[in-house]
Amino acid sequence: MLLIDPGITGDEMAALANDLRELGQPVVAGFSTHPHWDHVLWHADFGDAPRYGTARCAASIQDLLSNADWKARIAEGLPPEYAEEIPMDLLGLITGLPAEATQIPWDGPKVRIIEHQAHAPGHAALLIEESRVLVAGDMLSDILMPFLDLEAANPIEDYLAALRLFDRLADDVDAVIPGHGSVGGTGQLQARIKQDRAYVQALRDGGVPDDSRVGPSAPLEWLPEVHQWQLQRLAQRELNETLE
Ligand SMILES: [Zn+2]
Repeated sequence: MLLIDPGITGDEMAALANDLRELGQPVVAGFSTHPHWDHVLWHADFGDAPRYGTARCAASIQDLLSNADWKARIAEGLPPEYAEEIPMDLLGLITGLPAEATQIPWDGPKVRIIEHQAHAPGHAALLIEESRVLVAGDMLSDILMPFLDLEAANPIEDYLAALRLFDRLADDVDAVIPGHGSVGGTGQLQARIKQDRAYVQALRDGGVPDDSRVGPSAPLEWLPEVHQWQLQRLAQRELNETLE
């Protein structure tokens, strides 16, 4: 079994490990789609299978772990209601794959790595070719609008470039699995690309996104605020660039 971004709380990961044991499906490899805390966690019960990420993803998380106070830095961003239940001991212990790697090094079904720079450095979507499933990490969600990597030099361009990479997969994908939200079936890859592109283009062009995920009836009530924050950060960046 290949485990991708396995979970957040200790209990849910232990339950998953238990299910896999009962199914007789040992974990033979792990993969983190990108270097955000909720995608680089692990549980001892999964065993010590190799855990991978892209070279950039691994470099980014190693950079964080090299700070003596890394646990405190991560703790600042944790949802308070779960903070006590999130095990940090094995956080981020991943091996970077060579930059030219195009698939996961394991004996299971072929899994293609689609690396891009949207949302986080070294973010990778995984395409399980024979089952025509795209595991999208923090992209293509039905409930979350695009979160840009606001530390990057060109966050908007990076996001649009990633969506263009996904465009090319339209004939290869029947189901898309986002890191947050629900699985999308037939036609959902294209629909979600379109929705995310419209949102990012609205940010770029200074328009108001016509996007129910951040509108008055948003499924997550805190999301419109994050959208506003994202707008302000982008405006601030532009201002700083003008002043430089
Ligand atoms: Zn993320």
